[in-house]
Amino acid sequence: MGIVVVGTVAFDTVETPFGRGENVLGGSATYFSTSASFFTDVSLVAVVGEDFPDEHVQFLKSRDINTDGLQRIQGKTFHWSGRYGYDLNEAQTLDTQLNVLTQFRPNLPESYRDADYLFLANIDPDLQMEVLSQVRRPKMVACDTMNFWISSKPEALRRVLQMVDIVVINEGEARQFTGESNLVKAARSIISLGCKRLVVKRGEYGVLMFTADSVFAAPAYPLEEVFDPTGAGDTFAGGFMGYLASTGNLADDGIRQAIIFGSVMASFNVEDFSLNRMKFLEYREIESRFRRFKALTHFQGLPESI
Ligand code: AMP
Repeated sequence: MGIVVVGTVAFDTVETPFGRGENVLGGSATYFSTSASFFTDVSLVAVVGEDFPDEHVQFLKSRDINTDGLQRIQGKTFHWSGRYGYDLNEAQTLDTQLNVLTQFRPNLPESYRDADYLFLANIDPDLQMEVLSQVRRPKMVACDTMNFWISSKPEALRRVLQMVDIVVINEGEARQFTGESNLVKAARSIISLGCKRLVVKRGEYGVLMFTADSVFAAPAYPLEEVFDPTGAGDTFAGGFMGYLASTGNLADDGIRQAIIFGSVMASFNVEDFSLNRMKFLEYREIESRFRRFKALTHFQGLPESI
């Protein structure tokens, strides 16, 4: 079985210098699962309210995402509003309405409990923990979070970070969580909690992956048109985990390739609002951009010294 993901399925209201989307489809689990579905089977754990249109559920199903774990309960769907200035790297949250998230009790379908790969996308860390405790023997667990949970539930978040193999987090959030302005020191501090790898997302500057004794750097794909960075981080994580789950290669070379697939997926997602670009993305485009990434970062080594 492929990946189980818990996270938000949301309505987003987003403003960028290039336009505005009101109550569009969003959420960390939505972006993650759509991206991962290009590589492997994905099973979703999330909650929506009575106001969530069936058309969005049909979109997830059209990507072959298993929605047995998507609960619909009384109340309104989680809603996030955010704004980006010309510096598209950092979202400014204008409003977060948790709505049905406060009533959510994840209860994983039996078929989800033997998942090999688990992604705890950005959501309340108590819910991340509840889901983690229901998956029997995952081969690999990764998680993400956000400033909202770092400030409101730091202790619960710390417990989650101690239980996972890979932490995927934004640069600013790594600094916020550790209180350390130097990124290398912040990375060391997060790794000391117990994870094997830390992937730091740096928007248009790409990603850095840290282990206790190594660093790997990947640039972001240079694009002329970036419309909406919302979901770039979750889309990155979906491509990263999706590729890992599809190959099962968790050695360093496989993980580095997965970082590039994640970066490729994020680069497509930012080309349009909401998940619009994902709706007509084809796998051959993904492979072709992966090859261009190789050319982008390849350089000749030094000759052997005599
Ligand atoms: P990102 O990949 O970081 O740009 O994630 C954007 C998505 O995160 C949006 O579609 C939001 O619906 C979702 N989101 C925003 N705030 C939260 C939160 N506090 N918890 C979970 N998901 C959130």
